[in-house]
Amino acid sequence: MSNASDSKPFWQPETELIHAGILRSQWGETSEAMFLTQGYIYRSAEQAEARFKNEDPGFQYSRFSNPTVSMFEERLRIFEGAEACRATATGMAAVTAAILSYLKTGDHIVSGRALFGSCRYIVETLCPRFGIECTLIDGRDLHAWEAAVKPNTRMFFFETPSNPTLELVDIEAVCALGKKHGILTVVDNVFATPMLQRPLKLGADIVVYSTTKHIDGQGRCLGGAVLASDDFVTKYLQDWVRQTGPSMSPFNAWIMLKGLETLPIRVKAQCAAAARLAELLAQLKGVTQVLYPGRADHPQAALAAKQMPGGGQIITFEVEGGKAGAFRCVNALRLICISNNLGDAKSLVTHPATTTHQRIGPEARAQLGITDGMIRLSVGLESYEDLAGDLANAVAAVSSQS
Ligand SMILES: *Cc1c(COP(=O)(O)O)cnc(C)c1O
Repeated sequence: MSNASDSKPFWQPETELIHAGILRSQWGETSEAMFLTQGYIYRSAEQAEARFKNEDPGFQYSRFSNPTVSMFEERLRIFEGAEACRATATGMAAVTAAILSYLKTGDHIVSGRALFGSCRYIVETLCPRFGIECTLIDGRDLHAWEAAVKPNTRMFFFETPSNPTLELVDIEAVCALGKKHGILTVVDNVFATPMLQRPLKLGADIVVYSTTKHIDGQGRCLGGAVLASDDFVTKYLQDWVRQTGPSMSPFNAWIMLKGLETLPIRVKAQCAAAARLAELLAQLKGVTQVLYPGRADHPQAALAAKQMPGGGQIITFEVEGGKAGAFRCVNALRLICISNNLGDAKSLVTHPATTTHQRIGPEARAQLGITDGMIRLSVGLESYEDLAGDLANAVAAVSSQS
């Protein structure tokens, strides 16, 4: 197999997403091949021995690596500008691998508390079960990060923008604080996508993705990825991934490779539509709040402008009438589907208080600013006019007496 990205000139990012990392077989296929194989055949006992001693480059077993998965890892690695990338079966496998491959009993992790539900479970519930202390803080508050640092703090973890209230964390400032104290910073970059935010360039040590979201982009397969330095991957992540087995399937890697090819045009179109829809929602009677990082009235608009060259494709808005009002709105939608997923070509809404953030309880919801009237909208690729019409009708239903 030949690697087309050897000794080639530097391409623009959109070009890399279509050509980088390709491993062509002897057949010269145009599209990336899907290698549905568990194992690999050696020509001789000597070659098998050399392969296991890492003296003969190649594949051994698909829990370790697979050509299709490698193509995906390489393409994402080049786009993100990371030294190394490992793909995983889901986004949660990526988050778990990044955190648990590094931390051990007696260590301390500090995390922004506005987190995707399962991420919150990992840091708040799972880590302490293995003797890893966890402190959850308001990630927007730089002093809170500083105040939480202890001699045994070894990791910072946060997502920005956060789910569902789209709070931001100052990546550059938190990473600088981490560096000062020898703490590794892990950024969950799912909401921003690699199109809108480059945490590694802002000083992050590790970036994690749920590729289930925008990288697939069409709601098909689960997947995840960890991007980090060669040193981190060699010392910590590689053995974790090889031995505990959260490997991405070659089929899913093939879907993700194809997803990367269209990521820029999809995300650009979704962000443009989201910016217009946020504007529309803010003008509708019955909408009491619109949270969108691209709007001037976002509480952290200046930070958004500094670290994200676009507002993203998620909008969170609040309608009057609490839960009943939000349910009337959601139930009146005819085009936009009710689903807790995001980043799909289909526009999706969810009511966080009764779904994704039900488990954390009313106090934690209040602390995160998640109200009963809040609705999270993931903007898809449908026509803007159809989405705008559907939303306007649904919001009008909030105050109608029926
Ligand atoms: C979806 C998501 C995850 C988890 O990814 P899965 O692929 O569902 O395991 C983690 N973080 C964020 C911000 C997400 O949106």
